[in-house]
Amino acid sequence: MTARGKTPPRKEWLASVLTLYPEMFPGSLGLSLAGKALESGIWGLQALDMRDFSSHKHRSVDDTPSGGGPGMVLRPDVVATALDAAMPEDDGRPMIYLSPRGAPLTQKRVADLAAGPGAVLLCGRFEGVDERVIEARGLEEVSLGDFVLSGGEPAAISLLDACVRLLPGVMGAEASGSEESFENGLLEYPHYTRPQVWEGREIPKVLTSGHHGKVAAWRKKQAEEITRERRPDLWSTYRGDKQKDQSNESD
Ligand code: SAH
Repeated sequence: MTARGKTPPRKEWLASVLTLYPEMFPGSLGLSLAGKALESGIWGLQALDMRDFSSHKHRSVDDTPSGGGPGMVLRPDVVATALDAAMPEDDGRPMIYLSPRGAPLTQKRVADLAAGPGAVLLCGRFEGVDERVIEARGLEEVSLGDFVLSGGEPAAISLLDACVRLLPGVMGAEASGSEESFENGLLEYPHYTRPQVWEGREIPKVLTSGHHGKVAAWRKKQAEEITRERRPDLWSTYRGDKQKDQSNESD
């Protein structure tokens, strides 16, 4: 880490992760697309061990919950010191606490984060973190979904994976972004590849017809059907948006 206040000017998208398990990073982010982008300096990753910011002997970071109950809670002083070290001056990066109580992560939020300078991510453990540090540092709470992980690290890795693949130069020729699930409010259409017939199942004829217009229409219809069946929530938003677009067009 660079000395406080002496952070050199930088261009890469920077992720600082606060964790009790720095050895979990880069983990899967060191491989494949994200790993290549990390190596080439498109993004940077700093994993900070919160125990390094404990002023206690035995480097303790947690204590029992006030009011009783099971488990342990991460202390606000330790978490705040670690956050302040991760971002000594406000450099525009949002500070995010991965938490099941947070707003569910969406592709829209991912795209906004990827367009910014990076993120500071706090990974909770045990019962979570003292509420006061969430308030005092204005942490945004982000959830991966309605289930409980044992720690924030897999959520941080997922969030970073989703952001990094959108950074310029990461997906390269595969920049298929605009047709993917969620990009246009729909789930994606099904994919097929060779062999032409597999276990008696054929690739839908339209896909091998060479007729781009028909392929596009088929894919759109499939995407709409899949979304309507599987995700009524997305479907009703999409239909609402579509109706708005149509009424705007007729204005
Ligand atoms: N007692 C908490 C759960 C703690 S789980 C509660 O009931 O809300 C321990 C840590 O795992 C949390 O602090 C958080 O950082 C992480 N975590 C668990 N589930 C998560 C989810 N769905 N999304 C993001 N982070 C999660």
